[in-house]
Amino acid sequence: MTAPSILALYAHPDDESLVAGGVLARHAAAGARTAVVTATWSPDSHRAAELATALGILGAGEPRMLGYADFRVPDSAPGQPRFRDAPLEESVGRVVSHIRAFRPDIVVTHDAYGSSGHPDHRHTHRVALLAVHAAGLDGLHPLAGPAWQPGALYFTAHPRRACRALSDLLSGAGKHLHTVPDDRATAGVDVRPWLDRKWAAIRAHRSETARGHSLPALLSGLPPRDREAILGTEWFIRHTPGPHPGASANSPRSALAAAGGAVGRRPSYCLCPPAKWAAAADAVRSSAERAVMAPAGTRRGTASGVVAMRVNRRLTGGGPS
Ligand SMILES: [Zn+2]
Repeated sequence: MTAPSILALYAHPDDESLVAGGVLARHAAAGARTAVVTATWSPDSHRAAELATALGILGAGEPRMLGYADFRVPDSAPGQPRFRDAPLEESVGRVVSHIRAFRPDIVVTHDAYGSSGHPDHRHTHRVALLAVHAAGLDGLHPLAGPAWQPGALYFTAHPRRACRALSDLLSGAGKHLHTVPDDRATAGVDVRPWLDRKWAAIRAHRSETARGHSLPALLSGLPPRDREAILGTEWFIRHTPGPHPGASANSPRSALAAAGGAVGRRPSYCLCPPAKWAAAADAVRSSAERAVMAPAGTRRGTASGVVAMRVNRRLTGGGPS
């Protein structure tokens, strides 16, 4: 079983490392193809150079930048519109091109809140949602390459109780973290075995780490144990956009789907690996909180480090903004 490939779409350089760096490193280490599309900042900016270093650490290839201007930093892409101001159809089409070219099993992006609520985060969510659906329909964006339907779309989420430490960290700096009710998150991926790599990727965004009350700067000021508690788990909400090309219509539901993450009989491309390539994360959660969410036909009897969220269950760890 090959690990599912992942294409991440995030608003700014550093978002990918903060909220999905562990998942990207984990899947790359398992032999999966991984890549990151970044909506804002010019490809010739210093942030692009930092992004290239971070992606190298995570094993996610070269930057793929849409090159729009950051909502709050017009100079981030001179001569280009702010992402929010660009024509929606154009932005969606450009993301469709990346999806069809890379042909990922999974796409990950911001949730509707956009973590901190940054306008670029929220807009990236909208564009990603439209693009993932459009990519699988050959009548839409016909010049963007042959249709390709990712098997799953995951939104970065911040469950309220699990992310309390992160909320406190941000509120101490006058910032707000938009959290979701605990039962809305459908997957929590333990990334502690890849935390060194994730933290190195975050720190590769040196200009952000040096910038006042940015999240990388706030994290840098924490004791390692507290930082690990925040960064060691990445939380997601699963959205299933449609059947995967060539997949059997009779593929059984995964445990994740059965838990409410998907509807109908569809192949199950999960942010979780089957046990045979995820043994490193196998001993990190209490058995009562675990569920096997390996792709259909690959399930084993042991947990893979991905946690099924259950209402009123004890949650530990946290996730970045
Ligand atoms: Zn951001």
